[in-house]
Amino acid sequence: MRLIFASNNAHKLEEVRKIMPAGVEVLSLSEIGFLHEIEETGTTLEENSLIKAKAVYDWLLANSRLVIDGVFADDTGLEIAALDGAPGVYSARWAGSPEANRQKALAELAGKSNRGAQFRTVITLMSPPAASRQPSVMQVEGAVHGRIAEEEYGEGGFGYDPVFIPEGYDKTFGELPAEVKNKISHRARALQKLADALNMHKSSTK
Ligand code: IMP
Repeated sequence: MRLIFASNNAHKLEEVRKIMPAGVEVLSLSEIGFLHEIEETGTTLEENSLIKAKAVYDWLLANSRLVIDGVFADDTGLEIAALDGAPGVYSARWAGSPEANRQKALAELAGKSNRGAQFRTVITLMSPPAASRQPSVMQVEGAVHGRIAEEEYGEGGFGYDPVFIPEGYDKTFGELPAEVKNKISHRARALQKLADALNMHKSSTK
């Protein structure tokens, strides 16, 4: 099965390729020659995930290149309980850069005892129509609960990973091995649901 991953984020691509079952070939946007920026104008993870998948799907259709099994997109947000779920869908743009975003999370929680947070990922899969004219659209979600650390720890992962400690651990995603993150993360959980829906089996995971 060949799926296109509608993202230009090299970190996400690497994780997705490690998590997806062996029978799924994941193609990146650069590999299919899609060089456009996709504007994320939605106000929810669900909307932005759909916007990204649809932009690439429509481009493939317009270029008569629908020779794949589907296009999927991931939209992820960090939802901090004491901030009423912020930054959420605005996680990428919160303070401007990954470093500034992490520092903002730490600053906003300074002196607060409730440091609870979760990462949430919404994946949208668009597949070519079988009998009908409409493509099929499926959304799955994955989340991991945890808390925001007191400071940054670790060099691994990307984005908010050095300030996020998943439940059941005492280290951040920046410190934990990639294999651990890729088993328990928001993205891993969403991708497992996607694989289940596609009838791929975990036993064949790379
Ligand atoms: P987007 O899904 O690409 O819009 O990402 C939203 C924001 O969340 C960006 O700032 C990413 O760096 C960050 N982000 C996405 N996935 C992860 C992750 O797995 N760990 C840490 N940060 C992430």
